[in-house]
Amino acid sequence: MTTAAPRVLRTAYQESIAAYWNNEQDPVNIRLGEVDGLYHHHYGIGEYDESVLAGPEERVIAELHRLETAQADILLDHLRPVAPEDRLLDGGSGRGGTSIMANRRFGCRVDGVTISEKQVAFANEQAARRGVSDRVRFHFRNMLDTGFDTESIRGIWTNETTMYVDLFELFREFSRLLERGGRYVCVTGCYNDVTGGRSKAVSQIDERYTCSVHARSEYFRALAANDFVPINVVDLTAQTIPYWELREKSSVATGIEKSFLTAYREGSFHYLLIAADRI
Ligand code: SAH
Repeated sequence: MTTAAPRVLRTAYQESIAAYWNNEQDPVNIRLGEVDGLYHHHYGIGEYDESVLAGPEERVIAELHRLETAQADILLDHLRPVAPEDRLLDGGSGRGGTSIMANRRFGCRVDGVTISEKQVAFANEQAARRGVSDRVRFHFRNMLDTGFDTESIRGIWTNETTMYVDLFELFREFSRLLERGGRYVCVTGCYNDVTGGRSKAVSQIDERYTCSVHARSEYFRALAANDFVPINVVDLTAQTIPYWELREKSSVATGIEKSFLTAYREGSFHYLLIAADRI
């Protein structure tokens, strides 16, 4: 499947993002992952059980984790149908939680790519512990230039990673990798073209993560330009607000919660799922 490995970090910006993820140790990611060994670096969706606020704190942690896992489940719902002989790609795989879930659900081969070598090692260790190393593999590769074979993949997803890259470059690579009729699913935060430009709260999110949140319109322009036809667009904004409310009250709050809540409530930012087919 692999040709010559391309250079992974091609810009000073990418080096800084890799350094960020190599050093990242936020309890909100680690403690939640320890609940059941599925490590996520994304947000949650769905209503939370208010009784967890009565304590102990472990209940809040478990509830936040449940909502993050529910988010990955919805993403995977949109990848279907996937057969065991199909091959999937996780673009920006983090500590690997969504890839492990995809393999568990579909029984297929999953390759995850991330520009953090620490994450690659961590995620491969998780796959080994679960005895799925032959089917789930994590690679130190750039999703803009994976080096994987053309039309070798049935489905690709990005779970909160597209704000780190140029969408036209990204979808050009995904369009090359996918078989005709292959599915791409994206979950992302994006700013609202209708309210105009980047709000202060969205700028705070960019600053916190050294990322560049794209406009909603940019996704559809870049998809169309690369032979992707959307089949489902789901606005998850209302469903993610409870997660942020619970997180704000928890011991693992990082300080960015207010910016997300403001941006979502004022309508300058959406939490969006896009499923599109490669034609
Ligand atoms: N999708 C994972 C992780 C999201 S965090 C999850 O849901 O848990 C963002 C991830 O994007 C990190 O793993 C980071 O290394 C990765 N990333 C950012 N830019 C990338 C690039 N150009 N190529 C591959 N991965 C990238």
